[in-house]
Amino acid sequence: MTVRRKVFGAGLAGLLAAAGLALLAPSSGPAGAAPIDGGARMADSCPNGYVGLTFDDGPNPSNTTTLLNTLRQNNVRATLFNTGQNAAANPSLVAAEAAAGMWIANHSYTHPHMLTLSAANMSSELSRTQSAIQAAGGGTPRIFRPPYGETNATLEAAASALGLRTVTWQVDSQDWNGASTAQIVQAASRLTDGQLILMHDQYATTIAAIPQIVAGLTSRGLCAGMISPTTGRAVAPTGTGTPTTPPPSGGSCTATYSEGQKWTDRFNGQVTVAGSNAWTVTVTVTSPQRIINTWNAAVSWDSTGNVMTARPNGSGNTFGFTIQHGGNWNWPALTCRA
Ligand SMILES: [Zn+2]
Repeated sequence: MTVRRKVFGAGLAGLLAAAGLALLAPSSGPAGAAPIDGGARMADSCPNGYVGLTFDDGPNPSNTTTLLNTLRQNNVRATLFNTGQNAAANPSLVAAEAAAGMWIANHSYTHPHMLTLSAANMSSELSRTQSAIQAAGGGTPRIFRPPYGETNATLEAAASALGLRTVTWQVDSQDWNGASTAQIVQAASRLTDGQLILMHDQYATTIAAIPQIVAGLTSRGLCAGMISPTTGRAVAPTGTGTPTTPPPSGGSCTATYSEGQKWTDRFNGQVTVAGSNAWTVTVTVTSPQRIINTWNAAVSWDSTGNVMTARPNGSGNTFGFTIQHGGNWNWPALTCRA
């Protein structure tokens, strides 16, 4: 899928990018025609670096497919820390994770408190998981995250012997602890270059947060990256030693945003879809914005009210909406799938 947003003229855009400024406010520059291809994640789109979106404890029959679809729809790749027992029980989901372009990592076989185990049993937990993921078509993991983040030198030596770099996280989404979607989004807003956020495979609250997390990262000049097996930090997906699975292509359509009328408290936006007559466009606004009116599309909302899904309603391939901005003039993030 492709996401296009009209931005300022190339000269001004380059100048602002060089100054490290985000290209956000619809009212602060002349309209131009140079599109940014969000799908390709050009280097210029990630001026402030990369963060690692991570999801632990899968794959689960109840949730992993939804997680993968949501990640694909939002055009991001994540690192999935699978347990060996779940990989062995759900090999087709491991294969689906790989096919979706995700990086699959090791999260032990039975999810024990690893530091209570003998060194031999630590090694067994790790190596059985490598085998289960490999057998399912998930490749050979290079990254290990110990359950509960509990690690020590003995465990890290056992991991290293299998070619695994041990990582934990810098930001805990608290999704495992009952955090709301808004709280998960808020946690992700603390991420800075190189950092990893802990999330889990099995919570609807986490999945509902993904569009807003991605919109927030984009607005801060950050992109979702892979975890470097060398440093354990999030880096550009093109770094050395990386998985080579390309991002999924998804359906082919393009959604282009254009500005409409502006008032002191609200503004209109219009989205034109090209490439398909059977499209689904997600429009994600960031708090405190609210979409208060729409036209020429059939729309539905996620539980947060920040993510609107629009489909054709017989009025053609251009639809519009009014955003009550609450002081936030940022354009909404768009994704299109056909
Ligand atoms: Zn876990």
